[in-house]
Amino acid sequence: MSNPYIGRFAPSPTGPLHAGSLVAAVASYLDARAHNGLWLVRIEDIDEGRSVPGADHAILALLDSLGMHSDVEVVWQSRRKDLYAAAADKLGAHAYPCGCNRREILDSRLGVAPDGAAIYPGTCRHGLAPGRSMRSLRLRVPEAGEDTITFIDRFAGPRTQHLAHESGDFVLKRADGYWAYQLAVVVDDAEQGVTDIVRGADLIDSTARQIHLQRLLGVPTPRYLHVPVVRNADGEKLSKQTGALAVLPGDEGAALDALLHAARFLGLPLERPASLAAFWQLAIPAWVAMLAERETRTLALP
Ligand code: GLU
Repeated sequence: MSNPYIGRFAPSPTGPLHAGSLVAAVASYLDARAHNGLWLVRIEDIDEGRSVPGADHAILALLDSLGMHSDVEVVWQSRRKDLYAAAADKLGAHAYPCGCNRREILDSRLGVAPDGAAIYPGTCRHGLAPGRSMRSLRLRVPEAGEDTITFIDRFAGPRTQHLAHESGDFVLKRADGYWAYQLAVVVDDAEQGVTDIVRGADLIDSTARQIHLQRLLGVPTPRYLHVPVVRNADGEKLSKQTGALAVLPGDEGAALDALLHAARFLGLPLERPASLAAFWQLAIPAWVAMLAERETRTLALP
């Protein structure tokens, strides 16, 4: 029998796990446990230029010392490139070679997508101009009018995105030769049977692109829940430097501090428990209650 709930935490090993990424880890873990589901960890090291050697194992060791163990074998995206290549092949004519560089795209002044990516003006949509060679592989999004993607986020509520104007044709394979996050994440979530994605709200604007890819690849769309992002006093998203976690293996007190901090950020009103096991025992029902209460409040809105 297949498992009815498979969740995941998918850190990029660009540095040690920090207080911000711990919130996403804890939320995804609590949601999986609350559903008696499986929780898996996937190392998203597809952007090999940004990966920091050893950060993957440091993240896994830290998760272990917090009592969070992947229910299935951990996978590394850098070892799964054949899967991404096969998916790109499957996309056929929806994907096309693009010869534009960053400057040319920015010069078109269509602006940037909510996640900061420059919106592509469609220059190479109908073929590379003579004398130009392929730099990246792009996905053609539907024309305006047929480009609307709607989904219900279990935390943020209903969301709608118009791909043509809010994303434009987006990159599947980058000019540096690495597969893009959007493709790799969709392929992996489908291949690993992920039913529920719980992650930081900084990725909510990527979701429409991912749903579009899922449809083209004929794979199911998971449920989504995006939790708020931890910011520093200046309102900036925490970086690996500013939010570093000081948890050494075996230091249960520090582990509890880090977990309590993440849980309280998520709105779980927990008192400090005596042990890690007690923390998880209290946090799971508190997570369920927080989501139920949130749902009631959202429904009660006029
Ligand atoms: N690898 C991404 C990150 O660390 C998360 C991707 C995802 O959860 O979809 O920000």
